[in-house]
Amino acid sequence: MSENPLQLLFQAFGKVSECVQTHLSQFVLRPIGSSPSPSTKNQSPLVSLSSHSTPDSHLLQPGEILIKGKSSGPTTKEELGRATWTFLHTLAAQYPDKPTRQQKKDVKELMAILSRLYPCKECADHFKEVIRANPVEAGSHHEFSQWLCHVHNVVNRSLGKVVFPCERVDARWGKLECEQRACDLHGTSIFNGAK
Ligand code: FAD
Repeated sequence: MSENPLQLLFQAFGKVSECVQTHLSQFVLRPIGSSPSPSTKNQSPLVSLSSHSTPDSHLLQPGEILIKGKSSGPTTKEELGRATWTFLHTLAAQYPDKPTRQQKKDVKELMAILSRLYPCKECADHFKEVIRANPVEAGSHHEFSQWLCHVHNVVNRSLGKVVFPCERVDARWGKLECEQRACDLHGTSIFNGAK
């Protein structure tokens, strides 16, 4: 029985695509002819794209690597922001109803340190002003998560972003999923409560 020519074409394309994916996933790539950057000097030799590249293939920039078919370069300000807010809101979600004196001190210090060391100077400087105008409130889980939501909204407004409804903050940000609440901060889990 003769096969449909289109079907044969799709099959061939599928095989080529599979082959390319298999090969690329084995390599860490860098632009042809470039020398390794200082940070890659001690790593295993990198393989160039020469035998696989086509005239319009994407030449990776120094420091860029291929991970599961996606190129990943330096972190952007937006990615850093999202990751940091995720960290902070998750911390607030786990912050105890009755924090210890040390925990209250720690979150205040953390915010102060963030306003000095956050690796985007423009953001750090702005955040310093934000926390000066809105001193950290960390007397309880509710207080801290609402304060954080508020200051995140101050940043949102300054960037022309939508303001988040803070009454929904507990629904948006939950505690970290760990078996038997093993990731909870001291004072938040049933085990600590039983002590
Ligand atoms: P993000 O603002 O990163 O928010 C991530 C998620 O949090 C959202 O998708 C939403 O589900 C949720 N969310 C949004 N608002 C709230 C809220 N109020 N409460 C609870 N959850 C909320 N970028 C600049 O360009 N300039 C700056 O000066 C600047 N300052 C920053 C200061 C700090 C301390 C941080 C952590 C980040 C700063 N950023 C700044 C980055 C910026 O805030 C965003 O993270 C970035 O623009 C990506 O925005 P996004 O729209 O993906 O959502």
